[in-house]
Amino acid sequence: MQPLSLAEYRTPRFKNSHSNTAHADSDKPKHLISLVVPLYNEQAVLAALHHRVSVVIASLRHVRFEIVYIDDGSIDASWDITQNLDNQYCDVRAIRLSRNFGKEAALTAGLEHAQGDAVILLDADLQDPPELIPSMINSWLEGADIVNMKRAYRHGESWFKKASAHAYYRLLNWVSDSPVEKDVGDFRLLSRTVVEAIKQLPERNRYMKGLMSWPGFNQVTLEFERPERIAGETKWSYFQLVRLALSGITSFSVKPLRFATWVGALISCYAFLFATWVVIKTVVFGEAVPGYPSIMLTLLALGGVQLIAIGILGEYIARLFTEAKQRPVYLVMTDHFRPAPTQENIHEA
Ligand code: UDP
Ligand code: MG
Repeated sequence: MQPLSLAEYRTPRFKNSHSNTAHADSDKPKHLISLVVPLYNEQAVLAALHHRVSVVIASLRHVRFEIVYIDDGSIDASWDITQNLDNQYCDVRAIRLSRNFGKEAALTAGLEHAQGDAVILLDADLQDPPELIPSMINSWLEGADIVNMKRAYRHGESWFKKASAHAYYRLLNWVSDSPVEKDVGDFRLLSRTVVEAIKQLPERNRYMKGLMSWPGFNQVTLEFERPERIAGETKWSYFQLVRLALSGITSFSVKPLRFATWVGALISCYAFLFATWVVIKTVVFGEAVPGYPSIMLTLLALGGVQLIAIGILGEYIARLFTEAKQRPVYLVMTDHFRPAPTQENIHEA
């Protein structure tokens, strides 16, 4: 499928069959769509995001919308801005977490508070263009439970980030039992059925891309070109990305543990063969064993492999430790809901 170009984002391609003046009951929107937006220190982009989302929402009259903003403990003006965003076209829910819990926790909070028949996850920095929402809703109305948005091209990302992301997805899918589609981020539509399924997953290590792929159901993938962030900075350092990547692998696969076993077994076989060869050489050919360098090499190699194996074990034990504590994934400090004015309210005003 051809990726949607940036120019196409500007014109929602949804065909709206309802006229603005129609007030018959049959024309009342049947479905509620929730847009979940996690945000952390996004004061520079919030107004632009809300405006662009509102334009799209205003053009769709066959569905109702609520936007659930999750302020993940921002320390800039994001919360003040979020609380005062315009609710003319949709319900606006502003939830403030008690501190910065990380994007995965913020998304979890969003899924747990969203009321919609379908939920769309959207980054605050406009890297997930809201103009694609109509196509996502169309796919959902046609029967998809999950609409994955695949990045056909990532603008404004270094070759290193693209290459490491590519290698990571390949590795993850090789080891994981529930494959994650390559280049599909958190920008997705999930039906209520899928949201309820994900809400039942009790783990504290919330690698959302994995959790969202796990339930299965009918999936559709649409491609798009991912633009650059419109303002502000990425919140992920390489160190955090490596942590997320490790969390992805260890939450969805035990293959690394098996890998350690296999490497151990192979090295033991090799050591046994080598020992046999040394005995034969000494007994049959009478050769003394010269070998300080080879002993050192073997020691170092074995030491390295053992440490890696212990490290892998440690990763899993650390995750068990977090799960065992059963702490909540996030804490809500404020939950601020402002419904959109109904038709009657507008007439009264
Ligand atoms: N985000 C968040 N909590 C965090 C880090 C990020 O809610 O601790 C939000 C951030 O505000 C943005 C989204 O997650 O809306 C994606 O973050 P970012 O743009 O920094 O990631 P990138 O696009 O660079 O992968
Ligand atoms: Mg971003």
